[in-house]
Amino acid sequence: MSNAADVIVVGAGVAGLKAAQELVNRGRSVIVLEGKDRVGGRVKHAELAGRPIDIGGQWVGAGHSVLLDEARRLGIETYPQYESGRTIMEMLGRRSEFTGAVPRLPPLALIELLLMQKRWEREMKTLPPEAPWEAPRAREWDGQTLESWIVRNLRTRAAREFARLVPRGAWAAEASQVSYLWFLDALRAGTGLDYLMGVKGGALDAKFKGGMHQIPRRMAQELGERVVLNAAVRRIAQDANGVRATTDTGEYAARFAIVAGPPGPVARIEFEPHLPATRDLLHQRMAMGAIIKVVVAYREAFWRSKGFSGQVATDDDVLGLVLDDWLEGTTPMLLCFIEGRHAVEMSAASRETRKEKVLASLIRFFGPEAADAIGYEDNDWQVEPYTHGYVGHMPPGTMTRMGQAMREPCGRVHWAGSETEPHWAGYIEGGLRSGIRAANEVIARDNQ
Ligand SMILES: Cc1cc2nc3c(=O)[nH]c(=O)nc-3n(C[C@H](O)[C@H](O)[C@H](O)COP(=O)(O)OP(=O)(O)OC[C@H]3O[C@@H](n4cnc5c(N)ncnc54)[C@H](O)[C@@H]3O)c2cc1C
Repeated sequence: MSNAADVIVVGAGVAGLKAAQELVNRGRSVIVLEGKDRVGGRVKHAELAGRPIDIGGQWVGAGHSVLLDEARRLGIETYPQYESGRTIMEMLGRRSEFTGAVPRLPPLALIELLLMQKRWEREMKTLPPEAPWEAPRAREWDGQTLESWIVRNLRTRAAREFARLVPRGAWAAEASQVSYLWFLDALRAGTGLDYLMGVKGGALDAKFKGGMHQIPRRMAQELGERVVLNAAVRRIAQDANGVRATTDTGEYAARFAIVAGPPGPVARIEFEPHLPATRDLLHQRMAMGAIIKVVVAYREAFWRSKGFSGQVATDDDVLGLVLDDWLEGTTPMLLCFIEGRHAVEMSAASRETRKEKVLASLIRFFGPEAADAIGYEDNDWQVEPYTHGYVGHMPPGTMTRMGQAMREPCGRVHWAGSETEPHWAGYIEGGLRSGIRAANEVIARDNQ
């Protein structure tokens, strides 16, 4: 295969694959260079107890139209996330169980949370999706963390602790790590709090039969030998005529490049000439959320027979979130997330220690039956090469000073990746949309 094409795409996650698909459909030649020995990026396949599983991105949110269209085209069906029964919440050392969407909290805390949600959603609507840094109060909001907002604006301990669960559950980031402006924008990109935390009609609406991982795999199969694995791009040089990407095994040339990776790993690529300061500083500042995804398999969905939905949310357990995964005819499983500070701590522990701690928590949540796991798998995304975590987030002072660089091409280098998208940033849907946008940008320039 030739080392020259119209466009080089860096990264075979959903964003890069979608960009390549779009370019090929419109008559361009493409080479996709992927650092790992597999495609999919943050969508990853594993096998557990004889069943294919998603050890990375898995849920398709309601209204994720590009993803749903892609799945339909490939003949992959959805099934709804199970949510009947009692949900467990552990907060401030107390366990409560509830059905429906409203957690059992002290009445004053519930009132505060209701007002908080109304205020967040009122404020997020003042952010222009394409330029949140231009919102009237952008500077004020970008000058504080979500944590300082919580401490200043919420009085009850339960409301404060509940508010802290939001960034941890949604982006595996602590409230103390994210700018209040970035947080409001991420909330807006996901259409609000109910969507973000919701099952039916929300971000956790459905999953794909056979797994999300089939989608990038099938997209890559269609692209065939245009996708080159084990080809980490170390350097991208450009001049007036084109770009050159250097990997450990060869050099590739094209008229344009689309870099479709998360900001952390992309910061490790050397650019010649140097990237403009705003873009480089953006890469330096956008840390990835800390997450370990765990899947535990059982002979029976015993939690369902005991009246539990399988959903758990905690404020300070090794497992921040747990959800049910069982489709009749397949092995029942619990999907578990170790997030934030627990993910950092557990990254240093052995897999056996992690397994012991995870099972101990599941036994506490659901009873002694949880000890009888027939399979355990985990993936520490913090040490996954060319990924380094969950989703990129911004600390204070970043969005207002460097946000403009997010989608701004640097010469012949264009940017894709879920983090770059004004709508559904952080989701697989955002990744796919960013691929289409970046392909359109390149085609528009190529036609000039
Ligand atoms: C544990 C976990 C659970 C998630 N759950 C969900 C979910 O349920 N639903 C949802 O919508 N989203 C979920 N997400 C987020 C979602 O997976 C991502 O937003 C999406 O997959 C990002 O796609 P992307 O193509 O933008 O980036 P990526 O998937 O990160 O792809 C980037 C690709 O670029 C490659 N790369 C990076 N640097 C280089 C280099 N120098 N040279 C060559 N290649 C390089 C990487 O190896 C990678 O393959 C989850 C993520 C994680 C980690």
